Amino acid sequence: MSQNKNINLGYINLFNTHIIPVKFNYHAPQTLEEALNLLNKLKDKARVIAGGTDLIVDMKLRRKEPEHVVSLNKIRELDYITVDSLGVKIGAIVKLRKIEKEKIIRERFPALYEALKSMASIQVRNMGTMVGNICNASPAADTAPPLLIYNATLTAKSLNNERKIPIEEFFKAPGKTALKEDELVTEIFIPYPPQDSHSTFLKITRVGMDLSKVSIAVLTKFNGSIIEDIRIALGAVAPTPLRIRRAEEFLKNKPLTEENLKIVQEIVAKEIKPITDVRSTEWYRREVAKVLVKDALMKCLEEEGGR
Ligand SMILES: Cc1cc2nc3c(=O)[nH]c(=O)nc-3n(C[C@H](O)[C@H](O)[C@H](O)COP(=O)(O)OP(=O)(O)OC[C@H]3O[C@@H](n4cnc5c(N)ncnc54)[C@H](O)[C@@H]3O)c2cc1C
Repeated sequence: MSQNKNINLGYINLFNTHIIPVKFNYHAPQTLEEALNLLNKLKDKARVIAGGTDLIVDMKLRRKEPEHVVSLNKIRELDYITVDSLGVKIGAIVKLRKIEKEKIIRERFPALYEALKSMASIQVRNMGTMVGNICNASPAADTAPPLLIYNATLTAKSLNNERKIPIEEFFKAPGKTALKEDELVTEIFIPYPPQDSHSTFLKITRVGMDLSKVSIAVLTKFNGSIIEDIRIALGAVAPTPLRIRRAEEFLKNKPLTEENLKIVQEIVAKEIKPITDVRSTEWYRREVAKVLVKDALMKCLEEEGGR
C-alpha cells in the first residue's frame, strides 16, 4: 500500500533553502505496479521522485509545484545492475555512486565513468540516480553525452504499455522529454561499445561541484590510422544534449590529421546553439567546444597509441 501524507511545509522564503513552500501529497509505493497505477490516476498532477537532488531544489524555488510526489525509493524491483553479453542494464533507483563503483563501468564505459566521477559530491552521488539525471532533461546533464555516444536505450513503462526509447530521441527541450504523463523510466540499457574502441569525457565548470559550462563525450575506433567509427556528443551547448552527426560523418574513414581536426572544430562550432546564462557566455561556450573536441579526440588517439 502506498503511504499518503498531506504535507504543508509553510510559506515561501527564497532565502531559506530548508523550506519547500508548496503543499503536496507524498506517495511511497512498494511495487512498480502500484506506482504505475498512481501515475495512471494522477497524470500531470504527479511527479516521480528518485534521489530528489533536482526535484527538491526545483520545488524549493517553485520551478515545479506538483500536487503529488510519487517516490520510487521503496520499489526494490527497480534497484539492480545486470550485466550480460550485450551490455549493462541499470534500474531506475540505482544511485550514481553505485554505478560509478561498478568495475564493468570503469573498464568498458570509461566516458560514463569519468562523467559520474565528475558529478557533484559523493554525498549528492549517494542520493541521486542516473535515470533522474536523464529525466530531469537539463542540457548540462553530465551522464547525457556518454549515454549518447554509447547509444543507450531507455525503457519507459505505463500501466498498459512498455516501450524502448533511444536516448537520442528522449530529450525534447530543456526539462522536456519524450515521456508521456503516465509513464516512468524503469531502466537504462547501455550496449557495449565496439571492441578496441576508445572513449572519453571532458567538462569545463566554474568551480568544483558545479554543472558543466560545456561537456563532451567522444568514442573512436581506429583501423590503423583511419577512423572507422566516431561518435561525438556535447552537453550545455544547445537546448538538449546532442550528437554532432555532421562532424562524425566528416571524420569517418579519414585520418585524424591537423587539417581534419580544424575542419571538425568548425563543424562543431556551427552545429551547436549555445546561450549566455549564469554559467557562461555563448561566445565562450562555442570557443571551448572547439577546444574540447580537439582535446577529446587527441586523448582517444593517444590511448590508441598514435601520435
Ligand atoms: C549540489 C549539487 C550538485 C550537482 N552537480 C551536478 C553535476 O555536476 N552534474 C549533473 O549532471 N548534475 C548535477 N546535479 C543535479 C542532480 O544531482 C543530478 O541530475 C541527479 O542525477 C538527479 O537524480 P535524482 O535521482 O536526484 O533525480 P530527482 O531529483 O529525483 O528527479 C529529477 C527529475 O527526473 C524525474 N524522474 C526521476 N526519476 C524518474 C523516472 N524513473 N522516470 C521518470 N521521471 C523520473 C523527476 O520527476 C524529476 O523531474 C547536482 C545537484 C546538486 C544538488
